[in-house]
Amino acid sequence: MAKGKKTSGKEKLVESDKVKSAAKGTKKVAEVIKPASILTQESVAFMKNYLNTAMAVGFESNGQRLWIDYIKPFVDTHYVDPYGTAVGIINPEAPFKVVIEAHCDEISWFVNYINPEGLIYVKRNGGVDHQIAPSMRVFIHGKKGAVKAVFGWPAIHTRLSNAENKEPQAKVDNLFLDCGARSKKEVEELGIHIGSVITYQDGFDELANGYYIGRAMDNRIGGYMIAEVARLLKANKKELPFGLYIVNAVQEEIGLRGAEMIARRIKPNIAIITDVTHDTQTPMISKIIEGDVTCGKGPSPCYGPAVHNKLLQLVQDVAEKNNIPLQMRTVSRSTGTDTDSFAYANDGCPSVLISIPLRYMHTTVEMLHKDDIDSTVQLMYETILTLTPETNLNYL
Ligand SMILES: [Zn+2]
Repeated sequence: MAKGKKTSGKEKLVESDKVKSAAKGTKKVAEVIKPASILTQESVAFMKNYLNTAMAVGFESNGQRLWIDYIKPFVDTHYVDPYGTAVGIINPEAPFKVVIEAHCDEISWFVNYINPEGLIYVKRNGGVDHQIAPSMRVFIHGKKGAVKAVFGWPAIHTRLSNAENKEPQAKVDNLFLDCGARSKKEVEELGIHIGSVITYQDGFDELANGYYIGRAMDNRIGGYMIAEVARLLKANKKELPFGLYIVNAVQEEIGLRGAEMIARRIKPNIAIITDVTHDTQTPMISKIIEGDVTCGKGPSPCYGPAVHNKLLQLVQDVAEKNNIPLQMRTVSRSTGTDTDSFAYANDGCPSVLISIPLRYMHTTVEMLHKDDIDSTVQLMYETILTLTPETNLNYL
């Protein structure tokens, strides 16, 4: 939210006004009043820790454990489904069920082939970007724990010495990892095996003017935001007339699978999904195709067939009432998010997508603005307080 547009609605949410400046490297830790932020120091500390935890698609348990520990005090009960989707529940006995959801899995690689010289070839696990891989530092998660390695790449001096005299382009089949082992046996002695997952080492950092960067902001930031909604409901002693299911789903990046499974298990009446969407202000993105979305200018819900029109209108009304700016956009056919899984599950579940703008998706420097975290949390929170089992979402 832009400065000077602070609303009374937002201030209602403020739990702790005094937020100490956590600027790294500065000795003066000023006591700064930040009425705009609904996030506490403790919650931001959790966010950083959670963002930095490796959660490869299909191997999300470590981060899920952290997330459950964080959310436990804010919910009545919780469970984990067979593939690791975590669910915190407020009012588990209520027949009417509302879901707020994010996905926790992180794009990553698999060890696919180890050559006799000890170099490791990879396979994608989710839509990981081959163009950014050369010279990146990784962890290979083997049987003896994480092993450090790097994506090697031929030097600029040597890589033209091929028959065509052409620069090689990074592709999945020419990318390789070097962990310091010089034989297949040495690789295996480190606990690395075919099927070990690989995540980048890069973690959370802050840039000027309220920008956060990190690996897998897509969509760990969503898991953080839904946890914050639960925290605020508890802190403000809100009673809900329905069961609220706070869902942190696995396996989104390979086809919305965790959401598919958990939607069938919960059979919700309403689902509110949060994920990331593209900020379109940087080079080489067409606003004509991708729409006009900017980090720091508010949440970005979308129109699309899977998005329930009446539920979306309700969200837009809540935003207007609370002076939360929205950046509307459209999707063709499907949303490409867990919204699709919830909408089309069971007999049809009214679903809405509230995305947070993000730059450089599927790189290690995914960037978003902290004001958007605030306003997206606030929008979900106020939407939940507006819903009741009697909310009329009938089309006709
Ligand atoms: Zn993604």
